[in-house]
Amino acid sequence: MEVRLAQNYGFCFGVKRAIKIAQDHRNSITLGPLIHNAKEIARLKEKFNVDVSENLENLPQDRKLIVRTHGIPKSDFKNLQEQNFQIIDATCPYVRKPQMIVEQMSKEGYQIVVFGDREHPEVKGVVSYATGPTDIVADFEELQKLQLGKKIALISQTTKQPEIFAKIASFLSMRCTEVRVFNTICNATFDNQSAADKLSKEVDIMIIVGGKNSSNTKQLFNICKNNCADSFLIESESELDKSWFEGKKVCGLTAGASTPDWIITKVQNKILKI
Ligand code: SF4
Repeated sequence: MEVRLAQNYGFCFGVKRAIKIAQDHRNSITLGPLIHNAKEIARLKEKFNVDVSENLENLPQDRKLIVRTHGIPKSDFKNLQEQNFQIIDATCPYVRKPQMIVEQMSKEGYQIVVFGDREHPEVKGVVSYATGPTDIVADFEELQKLQLGKKIALISQTTKQPEIFAKIASFLSMRCTEVRVFNTICNATFDNQSAADKLSKEVDIMIIVGGKNSSNTKQLFNICKNNCADSFLIESESELDKSWFEGKKVCGLTAGASTPDWIITKVQNKILKI
């Protein structure tokens, strides 16, 4: 059996960076889980005594707080600073960028339009930097209902689809006097997706490793399933079933953006053993 790894898979730059920051700050507390992977969270706890807090109440003063890749609202950041917490900011630079754009464009009097999910922590953080009118649209339909001013600054949540973003930009540019478009979409997810798409067309069986409740892993699985009927989504090597591999010669392997390399290696080794 040959095992082929996708050209891009697993952790993105922002998550790798956040994990390194957590490892460099033993005994710290992350504000929300760093990634959607229970095993990696458990490893950080076991080896580095890094805990997770789901809210900002009752935080111990003697431990450093790590802001995760999604960022947090400006007011939360300020509150924690005022309480003299030691804050380590692991906000991904690709998320920090739209926060700064929103702050600046708002100051210059632009109406902010964010293409994103209102409930997503990243979007909540980004819009918190606005000081003027701000709207969030989840899709093109919502955009059409907006009351538009003359000057618009458009940004996107990092994980949104570029095609819809382009449609929104074009709609706005036909209707408003001035539109500033900032493409703040991050390519990490798409790089993993296009590599999975390519690989799953070339193999007999495809294994996707990642959290079953992670939306980007499920997306990867759907892409692979479309090209390769024998695609399987697993969280660890223990779920591999020998019968899946009968009569197969080439196995493709990819992993969601929250899957650490050590889990992928374990899966790869087990497949080779089978
Ligand atoms: S913005 Fe991109 S690189 Fe940063 S954490 Fe999100 S997916 Fe990863």
